[in-house]
Amino acid sequence: MFTINENFCKLPESYLFSEVARRINAFKEANPNVDVIRMGIGDVTLPLCPAAIEAMHKAVDDEGNPATFHGYGPEQGYPFLREAIALHDYKKRGIAMDPSEIFVSDGAKSDTGNFGDILSISNRVAVTDPVYPVYVDTNVMAGRAGDLVKGAWDKIQYLPVTSENGFIPSVPEGMDIPDVIYLCYPNNPTGTTLTRDQLKVWVDFALKHGSLILFDSAYEAFIRQDDVPHSIYEIEGARKCAVEFRSFSKTAGFTGIRCGYTVVPKELTAKDSNGCDVNLNHLWNRRQCTKFNGASYISQRGAAAVYTPEGQRQIKEAVDYYLTNAGILREGLTDAGLEVFGGVNAPYVWIKTPAGISSWEFFDLLLEKCNVAGTPGSGFGPAGEGYFRLTAFNTLENTMEAVKRIRSARF
Ligand SMILES: *Cc1c(COP(=O)(O)O)cnc(C)c1O
Repeated sequence: MFTINENFCKLPESYLFSEVARRINAFKEANPNVDVIRMGIGDVTLPLCPAAIEAMHKAVDDEGNPATFHGYGPEQGYPFLREAIALHDYKKRGIAMDPSEIFVSDGAKSDTGNFGDILSISNRVAVTDPVYPVYVDTNVMAGRAGDLVKGAWDKIQYLPVTSENGFIPSVPEGMDIPDVIYLCYPNNPTGTTLTRDQLKVWVDFALKHGSLILFDSAYEAFIRQDDVPHSIYEIEGARKCAVEFRSFSKTAGFTGIRCGYTVVPKELTAKDSNGCDVNLNHLWNRRQCTKFNGASYISQRGAAAVYTPEGQRQIKEAVDYYLTNAGILREGLTDAGLEVFGGVNAPYVWIKTPAGISSWEFFDLLLEKCNVAGTPGSGFGPAGEGYFRLTAFNTLENTMEAVKRIRSARF
């Protein structure tokens, strides 16, 4: 009789967004005439930029013509896109990057989740807490997380990021050396960033201890401050210790189109059990060629158009719109007397719940008093308790209205 991977059974039902939806629906049923503003949206809302639309229309026409038809493409992505990424996202920022180090994919969620395929089960994993749940749950599935004990996995190392440490995770000391460290900057859910110097501490740590950093920079396009690095490879030595994940989802509204990429530098090696060096770029290539048949030609044409001058201008306009909303939230809620973090280089603001009330209590309070819905911080990890996330993905009008309501509630 066949058996299953029982690690999957360890995962509790994902409760956060279904519980949020349940409470909003119950509230609306009880108050049918009330207009609830949803500020928990974790998806872009503006339509795709015209440059990408035009390129994808043309790509569809290519597929309808025998002379320009594309079937299976290279598993690693088409050269036109890998070269555009190497040039615009790296070379133009002074970072040397060969297109062969870039693996185009259907998005950063799959890549951050799949990367564990080429890593040993015995690795000790560290995450910042609160955290994007994909990093944790995929390690549970692989068998690296141990058991869930009082809301935390006993083999995962949680690095708390809270107002107490200014949202800067401290490197572990003593015997607690993680082998694999997930970092996400600009951060989801807190909307906070690390400066170049603060990220360098982590790169130096990883180089010293032989750890691997899995760096998710899905929100790179939201960076506006000069001292915030756009890529971990801006830090010296990162090519020897870091993999970087990027996505066109938040950058260019590709959440429904699907395209992202992962950078695995050629210098990145690990020792196998015989003490021989194994190249991670080679291993990831092997994994992708076996399990993945490439992102669609149409998506990749759309993604390449994002790098044209029109594309760059258009996506900046959309990101600026969200950042305006984030600024309105940040300033308006601070004026309202709340303690607010993030929202400067990210589409998220992270609010400390007033007077020590819990994340879920604040959710109910905000829904009932202001008719505004967000996401309880405790849903992102133990250190998220006492915090609350609002996103900048609603309209400008709704964002201003939400701030007005929260101000008049006088928390
Ligand atoms: C949205 C998001 C992604 C992007 O995922 P895609 O699969 O590329 O859409 C990756 N990481 C984080 C932290 C995100 O919030």
